[in-house]
Formats: sequence, C-alpha cells, structure tokens
Amino acid sequence: MEQNFDIIVAGAGPAGLSVSAEMAKRGHRVLVLEKETAGLTKRSWFVPPFVLDEETRPFSFGGVTRFLAATFSGASTKWKAEEFPAYPYIDEKTILPYWVKVIKDKGSVIMDNTAYVSKTVHKDSVTVNTSRGVFTSKLFLDATGYESKKDTASASKRAGYYWWSVYGAVLEMPLTGGLQVGDYMMWQTFKDTNANPDESLGHGRPVFEYEVLGPNKVFALLLFLRKEQVTKETMEPLFTQMLRKEDSTAPFHDAKIAEIKYGWYPSGGVSQSVASDRVGYVGDSACWTTPCGWGMTFILQNYKRYAEKLDETMRAGRLDGEALRALPAYRADAEFQLTFDRLVIHFLSNAPAPMLDKFIDFFNKIDPILCERMFTLTLTEEDFETAIGLFVKNFTLRELASVLPPEDYELVFEVAETAGRVVIWDYIKKWWDKLIGKTYKADDAGFSFKSGN
Ligand SMILES: Cc1cc2nc3c(=O)[nH]c(=O)nc-3n(C[C@H](O)[C@H](O)[C@H](O)COP(=O)(O)OP(=O)(O)OC[C@H]3O[C@@H](n4cnc5c(N)ncnc54)[C@H](O)[C@@H]3O)c2cc1C
Repeated sequence: MEQNFDIIVAGAGPAGLSVSAEMAKRGHRVLVLEKETAGLTKRSWFVPPFVLDEETRPFSFGGVTRFLAATFSGASTKWKAEEFPAYPYIDEKTILPYWVKVIKDKGSVIMDNTAYVSKTVHKDSVTVNTSRGVFTSKLFLDATGYESKKDTASASKRAGYYWWSVYGAVLEMPLTGGLQVGDYMMWQTFKDTNANPDESLGHGRPVFEYEVLGPNKVFALLLFLRKEQVTKETMEPLFTQMLRKEDSTAPFHDAKIAEIKYGWYPSGGVSQSVASDRVGYVGDSACWTTPCGWGMTFILQNYKRYAEKLDETMRAGRLDGEALRALPAYRADAEFQLTFDRLVIHFLSNAPAPMLDKFIDFFNKIDPILCERMFTLTLTEEDFETAIGLFVKNFTLRELASVLPPEDYELVFEVAETAGRVVIWDYIKKWWDKLIGKTYKADDAGFSFKSGN
C-alpha cells in the first residue's frame, strides 16, 4: 500500500470524516486512521437548525419541539413548540457513512482497526506511526476526540475543561404519562443522588434527560457535568436505577433497551487555534465545541470553512503553526459569549439544588429560546444584556462566589467588563472586598487583581 499522503487524519468521528471528505473533494490524497470502525459511533446528536445546509439536511430527522426542565425540589419550566423552529436530530447511522463514501470515491484511503500511535514532525513532512505501519504526509490532523494525546503548549487549556459524561439508551416504549414526540426534558436533580453526595456519585449533580424521538422511541440518558470524566462503570448502574426505580420515571420502568449510547465531551471553553508546524487539531481534540458541549453543532458549523481555508493554505505551501492556528474561524467571534457561557456552565456544574431551581425560574422570566442562543453562541448583544441583568438580579455575588471555584472569579469580572451597558459594575465593586478579601484595580489593559492590598 502507498505510504505517502498529502494529509493523514487520526480519528474517523464526525470531525475527522467531514474535514477529510472536504479535502478529498478538493483533490488532496487523505489517509484516515480509525482505531475501531469508521462510520460507527456511540453518540447521537440534535443540533440547531441553522447549522444544516443542503448537503447535511437530508441526514436530519424529527426534532426537539418542546423544551421542559425540572429540578428535584420542584422548580419547572416549559418552553412551547411554537416559539422556535424544531431542533432536528442528525442521523449518525447515515451521515458518517456518507462522508466515508465521499472519501473513498475520491480515491482517498480509510484504514479501520488502525490506531495512531505517535508522530515525528520534519521540515517538509510528518512521519506517523500506527499500529499497522508507518506513513508520511505533508500535514497531520488529530481528530481523535476526547482521547487526543494533545501534547502542545495548549494542552494546559484542557485542564480548564469541564466534561459532560453521558450514559444512556435508545428505548422502545409506548408514550404514557404525558410524553409527547419532540419532548426534550431535563431533570436537574434526583432525590437519591442529592441525599448521598459523598457516596458513589461523588460531588456534582447528575441530570436525567430524555428526548422523545418518535411514537415508540425515546433516548433517555444520565449526564454529569464535572471537572472529571465519570466512568462508564459508575454510570451504568445509576442509569439503570434512575430508569427502572425512581417514582418520577414510571413511564420508563418497563421500556426495552434497543441501543446503549455513552461517551464524554468537553465543555467550558473553546480552543480556537490549536496547532503547531504541520500539525492541526479538529473536533473535540481541539475543543471545537460550545462551552456547554455542542460539539457536533460546532463541527457542522465549521468544517467546510475550515477545509476551504486549509486547502488555500496547503496550496500556498504554508503549513507552519502560525498559518494553521489562523484557520478556525468560528461563527461565535464575540468573546463575551464564550466568557459568559463558561461562567454559566461552571455555575451549573457546581451549584446546589436551590440555586438550580432559581436558574430554572430565571428562564421562565425571559425569552425561553434565549437559553439556547446562549448555548449555541448566537446571542445578540441585547440578549446578552438581558441575560446578565437577570443573572445579577437572581443571584447575589455572594452566592456566585460560594459555588464558583476561585479560578472563576476572574471570569465574573470579565463578564462584568464586557457587559458594557449593563449597570452591574458598582454592584460588584460593593461586594468584592467583603467577599474575596482582595482589591481590584482598573488599568489600561483591563483589570488586574492584587491580593490583600
Ligand atoms: C451521548 C452523547 C450525546 C451527544 N449529544 C450531542 C448533541 O445533541 N449535539 C451536539 O452538538 N453534540 C453532542 N455530543 C457531542 C459530540 O458527539 C462530540 O462533540 C463529537 O462527536 C466530537 O466529534 P469528534 O470527531 O471530534 O470526536 P469523536 O466523535 O470522539 O471521534 C473520535 C474518533 O477518533 C477515534 N480515535 C480515538 N483515538 C484514536 C487513535 N489513537 N487512533 C485512531 N483513531 C482514534 C475514535 O474511535 C473515534 O471514532 C454528544 C456526545 C455524546 C457522547
């Protein structure tokens, strides 16, 4: 088999396959390495409708039409279908094989059961060691997802990630107990898990979620949003307990499990420009995601533009780190959204039940779809001001400081700074010394923090 390629891509998830298909269409010889089987995944996705185009829309179906949310202590909200366009599901069983076919039809190569092991970067090429031999290329793209061995300086950013850990199942069951096709329900807490925060669950509050995909088909899942990834072994019995035993999940108790889904995905930050000479990162490996973890959404939004610019860069012979770092250009270019979303997601991860209740109430007071605009990074400035204003009205800084880890205090200030027209700055000043025991000082470069003076 040929050993030399234009591009070697490690990982045949949606990021690796979509970018590879685009580059193959543009005449580049691509080798895709997949340690399992390309085109298979244990993930599934729904996405905002605006990320689909003529090419990807045929792979979508149904959709979320009714957002519901509740917490163990009783706070609940219901966002009506007519207020927003349905959020469609992407059929992972057809879109990934479609990209596989495009890659092969264009004469590029996919190797299943082949693990990427290591790489050596030379002046004009990259040597890639795999479990099935050594290959060379002009460019190496790491699309290995959350398992990326990312060893660049930006690896430190990964330490700041929060992780969604997911274990769930596609269920076959009749719709009883008020379930409707298109329902997307999130329960923020459960009695048992709240009562025993120090036992098997450790800290952090799980979310039980279900999405009604069709008249007899529901995807039910357990999610943790935490600094750590929660293992499959920990989640499996908890999911079973929630699905089969909790009073509030009665309609699910006898459901037939058709397919298990699980995995992890990053949230809490976006690394837009991770690359070094001849080495790029796409998808979860580069934290191509929104702060709340819409990784597939980001891939669909960005892969074409990324490939278009990569093609130009390759043709210009510019594969240095600087040129590659300049490639990702997310639609969400407003920094305030990223900062605010990080703050919100860290809050959701760490807040106790009464504060989560307040958060749910908070969304009852505003345009319900604003929450989705926040999580898909499509807030307008006006939305942002509304959200900040309500956040400040609903939560005191004392409450925020009590749940956010210390490294996030700076985020609070960044949000305040970028909030601009929202009058919360004086409010924050008033509380700062009292709560943190530090002072802040405005300078030309923004705000700096000095301890104890
Ligand atoms: C259960 C679940 C539900 C989700 N729901 C949504 C949703 O509703 N909407 C949304 O937008 N996002 C959702 N996400 C997030 C989304 O799935 C991810 O962001 C997305 O899959 C990332 O794609 P990727 O190609 O970067 O990585 P992955 O999908 O993780 O693919 C990486 C691939 O690399 C392969 N690989 C890893 N290591 C190696 C190696 N050393 N050599 C060769 N191959 C390797 C893996 O086998 C895998 O095939 C969900 C995730 C999960 C787990």
